[in-house]
Amino acid sequence: MAHEFTINMLRWYATNRRSLPWRETKDPYAIWLSEIILQQTRILQGQAYWERFMHRWPTVKELAEATEDEVLREWQGLGYYSRARNLHTAAQQIVANGGFPTTFEGLRKLKGVGDYTAAAIASIAFDQPAAVVDGNVYRVLARYFGIDTPINTTEGKKTFTALAQELLPHDQASAFNQAMMDFGAIQCTPQSPNCSYCPLAETCEALHTQRINQLPVKLQKLKIRERHFCYYYIRLQENGSTIIAIRRRPSGDIWQGLWEPLMLEDCSEFPEIRGTFTLLRQKVKHVLTHQIIYADFYLIDTTEKPSLPDSFIWIPESELSHYALPRLIERLIDGI
Ligand code: SF4
Repeated sequence: MAHEFTINMLRWYATNRRSLPWRETKDPYAIWLSEIILQQTRILQGQAYWERFMHRWPTVKELAEATEDEVLREWQGLGYYSRARNLHTAAQQIVANGGFPTTFEGLRKLKGVGDYTAAAIASIAFDQPAAVVDGNVYRVLARYFGIDTPINTTEGKKTFTALAQELLPHDQASAFNQAMMDFGAIQCTPQSPNCSYCPLAETCEALHTQRINQLPVKLQKLKIRERHFCYYYIRLQENGSTIIAIRRRPSGDIWQGLWEPLMLEDCSEFPEIRGTFTLLRQKVKHVLTHQIIYADFYLIDTTEKPSLPDSFIWIPESELSHYALPRLIERLIDGI
């Protein structure tokens, strides 16, 4: 006999499920793509990207055959670019293996696929009994069962994963997982959950002990690093067209593989370039998950090519839109 929680959750889902294009298919590629895009993106924005990807690369094989630059360009604006690079690598893994893995363990081996995504694909595409556990699930379970184990600890992860797995009906894994995702997103929301019209209200521990705002518990341990970037947008005229210097960002830091103008993180000295320096933007704040960037942006108009490291290339300014840029650079060059 299924737990009362499970029965109510499935009942709620039957009438409240969100209608989303990747919900209307069993195609693991479409489901995987939606899960990767939606990892740090809101549905409305994510859906437009999902549709563009599906239109441009309707199958995993076509995505695998694209270049990394093409994938990064299509991803532009979504942020967290490692997701796009992993997506591309995983597509190649899948093609090399002759198709999608059909089990949680097999899916977990794909680049960029963690426990949550593997469980989502395994259950929705292949009806495997693997419970999803993400922020929504932590919140719903912590509140309903009144669990105050911090969710960002090893013990918390174990506790909530085991509970979600225990509640999962093996013959309805897909519906139950999606019910949990939707319930957390539209009913039991972080702020102001809709407890007045909730099918779980009668037996909800947080509601009865007035701990809705205290649950789930999360330990504060995130350190935010502040950085100051000085960008120098070098441009000059050559054979009747305007050219600029950009380089691809190397590995080992944020925005790996994206393009940018000359950047110095030590802003105390100007680069040794002959030309006119114009400060166009100052202390532009750009917030990432673990970092806050403050950026100054200089335009340098010069008449001769300065000597730059080999990693730089010169391109016509009019072709800059063909290169994948961090969102910060897009903001900075806007209106030049
Ligand atoms: S009663 Fe409120 S807190 Fe409890 S599960 Fe429902 S929406 Fe969430």
